[in-house]
Amino acid sequence: MTSASPLELAGWRHVYSGKVRDLYVPAETAPDATPAHLLVVASDRVSAFDHVLEPGIPDKGELLTTLSLWWFDQLAGGDGGPSIPNHLVSDHRLEGEETVSLIPDAVQGRAMLVRSLDMQPIECVVRGYLTGSGWAEYRASGTVCGIPLPEGLNDGDRLPEPLYTPAWKAPMGEHDENITFERSVELVGAETATALRDLSLEVYHRASATAEAHGLILADTKFEFGFDADGVLTLADEVLTSDSSRYWDAEAWRTGTTPAERMASFDKQIVRDWLSANWDKQGEPPVLPAEIVERTRERYATLLRLLTAS
Ligand code: ATP
Ligand code: MG
Repeated sequence: MTSASPLELAGWRHVYSGKVRDLYVPAETAPDATPAHLLVVASDRVSAFDHVLEPGIPDKGELLTTLSLWWFDQLAGGDGGPSIPNHLVSDHRLEGEETVSLIPDAVQGRAMLVRSLDMQPIECVVRGYLTGSGWAEYRASGTVCGIPLPEGLNDGDRLPEPLYTPAWKAPMGEHDENITFERSVELVGAETATALRDLSLEVYHRASATAEAHGLILADTKFEFGFDADGVLTLADEVLTSDSSRYWDAEAWRTGTTPAERMASFDKQIVRDWLSANWDKQGEPPVLPAEIVERTRERYATLLRLLTAS
C-alpha cells in the first residue's frame, strides 16, 4: 500500500480523509446521521509541515496502528495504572465457535474500530523537552507557547516540568494554531479545557515512564480527545505513535554532544530534516528519495520493537 486514495470497502462508506487516516462509516448509515462506530484506517501517507508527501512509507499504516493499539492497552491498565477511557471497541464477534473479524481483509492490521465521539477541536500537546517549534520560539523570546522558561536552555534539553501547550485544530486545509490555555477555555469552556490539560499531563507522565523503562525518551506528544454518548472524556485518534510524538534514544541523549547525537530519533525527524534542507516550503514539496523513505521505515519499525520488547 502506498499513499494511494482510500479503498472501496464492502459494508463501509468512506466519509473523510485526513492527512494520514481514512474514515469510514457503516454503509447503512443515513446521510448526516452520526454513526455509533467508525472504521479508522491508517494509510502509509506521511506528512510534514502540514503537507502530505510522496511517496508513502511502506508498512507505516500498520506500524502506527499496532503502536496505537499497544499504547491504548497500556493506558487501559496494562501498565499497572488506572484505566483511561479510549475509543476502541471490539473488532471481532463470535459466531458459534468462530471468531469473525469486523475489519475488512483489505485493511487488516492497519484499521481500528472505534466509537464515534464528539471530538474536541484542541490538539493536546505535551512537551517534556525543548525542541522543534518550541525551541525556535524559546530562542526568539524565551518562551514556549507564551510560557516563560528559565534562561540558558539548549535544543533538546529537558524542561523543568512537562508543559501543556494546546493548539487549535484548524479546519481541513488550514494550519493548526498554537493557543494559550486561556484561549482553550474560551473555545471549549473551563471545565473541559481543564480536564483536557490534566488528562494530557497524566497520560504523558505515564507514557514517559513506560518509554524510559525501554530506553526511550518521550520528548513530546499530541493527544486528541472526544466526549462519548455518556459525556465521558475519551482518548481518541492515534496515541503516542511516531507520527504524533518525538521519541529519542535515552542513552544517546545522555552521552551525545551535538544536537544530532542527542536527539537520535525514532520518528519522522529524518523526513523533516531532509525537507528543511531541500525545500523552501513554497509550493509543492519535492519527492522523498528512496534512502529517506527506507530510513524512516526502519526508525518506525525499531521504535515498535524497542517499546514492545519485554
Ligand atoms: P485533519 O483532520 O485536520 O486532516 P489529521 O491530518 O491529523 O487532521 P488524520 O489523523 O489523518 O487527520 O485523520 C483522523 C481524523 O479522525 C481526525 O480528524 C480525528 O480528529 C478523527 N477522529 C479520530 N478518532 C475519532 C473518533 N473516535 N470519533 C470521531 N473522529 C475521530
Ligand atoms: Mg491526526
